[in-house]
Amino acid sequence: MRFLAQIGIAVVSLLKPFHNLHAGDHLREEDVEFFQSLPKAELHLHLSGAYPKDYLFSLANPEQRLSLEKALQLVRDKVDYHQVFHIFQLVHQLVNSEERVKEGVEALCTELKEDGITYVEIRSGLKNLGQGTEAYLRAILDGINEQNSVDFQARLLLSLQRNSSSSTIRETTDLALKYKNRGVIGIDISGDSTIGQVDLILNDLLYAKEQGVAFVVHVGESPQEQDQMKLLTALEPIRVGHGVYLCEEAANWIFSNRTPLEVCLTSSVLVQMIEQYDQHPGIDYFRKGHPIAFCTDDPLLFSTSLSHELFLAHKEAGLSKFEIEKLTREAFQYKIP
Ligand SMILES: [Zn+2]
Repeated sequence: MRFLAQIGIAVVSLLKPFHNLHAGDHLREEDVEFFQSLPKAELHLHLSGAYPKDYLFSLANPEQRLSLEKALQLVRDKVDYHQVFHIFQLVHQLVNSEERVKEGVEALCTELKEDGITYVEIRSGLKNLGQGTEAYLRAILDGINEQNSVDFQARLLLSLQRNSSSSTIRETTDLALKYKNRGVIGIDISGDSTIGQVDLILNDLLYAKEQGVAFVVHVGESPQEQDQMKLLTALEPIRVGHGVYLCEEAANWIFSNRTPLEVCLTSSVLVQMIEQYDQHPGIDYFRKGHPIAFCTDDPLLFSTSLSHELFLAHKEAGLSKFEIEKLTREAFQYKIP
């Protein structure tokens, strides 16, 4: 998710990916096996919100572990998530070197494999941990390359914010192009969507598009969001993230272009975009035949996993196992080429 990813964060126990189920969920063993056994594509996952909790704990002192646990509980309790920015600060304190980024990416990929994911697009903004932003990018790719195999493929999207500077956009574009055939597949746009700064960044983004960079865009996170059509028509994104609050024109654009929607149920509920899982408009879009993909956004932050999101789509949003199996299979078609 956008605002949080701006500061930079994810949790699923390796052995207990359903640890986060609530008392009333009544998850049966056969459900666990069903959703985990489906080969899955994870298309919306922010690295800083996705490092396995076990990995972070291995780096943390007792005080930091307690702080992380408390912060994650606050998110699960649906507090104003602006109050949990320090989760990201804590993650960045712990994952503070290129070597740790590489190890963290490997730990993440291992966890994703345990959950039955066979393809993932990981997102991250560029950071300088001491050796420059390109070294950070290469650390992520090194972690990915250690884990990629015939059964599992990870790719990287570079994240930009709606308020990114021109120099950051240019640097990100240059690195996206330089590493285009080495694991970087495009650019993600996120950030506070209630701030109307799209005009300030549009020219630089259009330059990137002209150079052949593919885009995915967070759209419709807030009813106050501005400039949806500007971003959609200028960047022609491969997919759209969230899409909860779309203006009529934007919804029509997405429908007519059949732009796949990344649906993050737990994220949308916990940041209070929606109150109930079945209120996510992506469910209705799916019923109307529009392509959607369930994703986690920030599995650490929201204490979830992709199998758990599919379970929620079944139990809370009313999709049949047959429908979930079908859309999970189809999600592989929405990869960035
Ligand atoms: Zn996101």
